[in-house]
Amino acid sequence: MDMQEFVTRNKAEFIEQAITDNLNKRRRCRFCDTIFYISEAKIFINADQEKIICCPNAPLCKGTIENWSLTLF
Ligand SMILES: [Zn+2]
Repeated sequence: MDMQEFVTRNKAEFIEQAITDNLNKRRRCRFCDTIFYISEAKIFINADQEKIICCPNAPLCKGTIENWSLTLF
């Protein structure tokens, strides 16, 4: 995967808008099984210049916002 991390001061707002939930909520990545705060997510830009919200373990983990589950705690 040829992606570059997208660094922005508006990262929090960008992620919050995309996920429509609070940044202090948690998610579980179904790729690497990590439980993390939404605020820890990373933004990457793919080859088509699209911004993709990725697992905090990216680029090692290929999990994106599509691969996250709600957590019970
Ligand atoms: Zn992951």
